Parts: sequence; structure tokens; C-alpha cells
Amino acid sequence: MRRLIVTLDGPAGTGKSTVAQRLAKRLGVEFLDTGAMYRGLTALALHRGLAPDQETDASLIVELARVNPLRFNWAEDPPRLLTGSIDLTGRLRDDDVTRHVSDVARLSGVRRQLVERQRDIGRQHPRLVSEGRDQGSVVFPDAEAKFFLDASADVRARRRADQLRAAGRTAHEAEIRRQIIERDRKDSTRDVAPLICPEDAENIDTSAMTLADVVDHLEARVRERGLA
Ligand code: C5P
Repeated sequence: MRRLIVTLDGPAGTGKSTVAQRLAKRLGVEFLDTGAMYRGLTALALHRGLAPDQETDASLIVELARVNPLRFNWAEDPPRLLTGSIDLTGRLRDDDVTRHVSDVARLSGVRRQLVERQRDIGRQHPRLVSEGRDQGSVVFPDAEAKFFLDASADVRARRRADQLRAAGRTAHEAEIRRQIIERDRKDSTRDVAPLICPEDAENIDTSAMTLADVVDHLEARVRERGLA
């Protein structure tokens, strides 16, 4: 079977996850949410009482990742995230996890392990839409197609709030906007694998597009290049 790795990177709240899931369905390939892995490890760290923003806990979090390897159950759609017998999926979008995840994701010892795991997944599931911050730049530099989705902070805050409300959660748009900007700042300025648009990625400003438009556009780009 011919390999098809499509990478989708970009800042928080562009609707990347939804777009990646729908695009994967259209192309008949699998979907990898790499943010879920950083979120899952964050949930685990908080559960163990570790403080991701404290330098003193950094090595403990790296060790926690080593002894609790994360895995997806690919039989579920979308795949659930597990470690051992613990299902982390229900915790991933919780507020405390969202607030601390960038502090976990900046640790080079964590990134080394998760990047390796993501490349393994790419070998086992070679037809994949992979979504995150460093998928085109670091994890799959030789991906068949690379996209970078962006949108204004206002639009991203509104999308995230709509998403939370659709899931039956309360959402304060101004607070979400503040958190998104803070997370972008941390993700873009960290030393290891900062959020960047890879040179060979198509950069798409989705501010004035619906998510359905974005999926249509990406699918057309992949098909017109004869990749699917
Ligand atoms: O995409 P999502 O909002 O779920 O990502 C959560 C966080 O995980 C990001 O803000 C970033 O700190 C981290 N992340 C990362 N590299 C990835 C995916 C996510 O650093 N490939």
C-alpha cells in the first residue's frame, strides 16, 4: 500500500483536529492527534501531583513518560488514548490539562519520547493525517503533503468556545482567547521544536473559511497532486 502522510500543523483553536479527522475520513486514511499525547501525559502528571511549571518536577515528568508509554486503541473511532489499563481520553480537554500542557510539551526529554512514538505510529499506520505543532517540521519532514492552518485569535477563541459548548461544556470566550494567546506564545518560543510553518507547507489562513471549506480545500490539494 502506498504511503500517504499528510501533516497539519498550526496554533491552538484553528479547528485542526476536526479538520484532520474529516480529511482522514475523506481520504480513507487514519488520523493521529499528537496534541492528545501531550495532553495525556499532562493529565497523568497532574494525577501524580506533579507541577509542570516547576523546574524541580521536569525530570520526574520525563521519567513518568518513560514508565507509562502512551498508546492509541485504533479499533475506536476516533482512537482512544491509553496508558496501561488507564483510559486518559475523558481528561484530555479538561481546563487544568489545557492550562499546563505547554509546560509539559516544552521538555526536550518528553518530546524525544513522543516524537519517537509518533514515528513508530507512522511506520505502523503509513496512511495517516497527523495533526500537531511539529508534524511537518520535525516528526515527518518527508511527508507527502504538508499544511499549516492559521486564523486570527478572535476566530480561534470563538471556534474553541463553540466546540466546548457543542460538547455540553461552559465556555468563556475572553478567557479562552487569553489562554490561546498564552499557549501560542509558549509553543512558539520554546527551545525544542517550536511551532513554525515548515517552508514546504501550504500556509492557509482559515479566518474567513468554514471548517467544511477547509476540508474541501485540503482534500482537493491532496487529490490534485495525485496522492489519493
Ligand atoms: O492541539 P492541542 O491543542 O491538543 O495541543 C495541546 C498542546 O500540546 C499544544 O499547545 C502544544 O503545547 C502541545 N503540542 C506539541 N506538539 C504537538 C502537538 C501538541 O507541542 N505535535
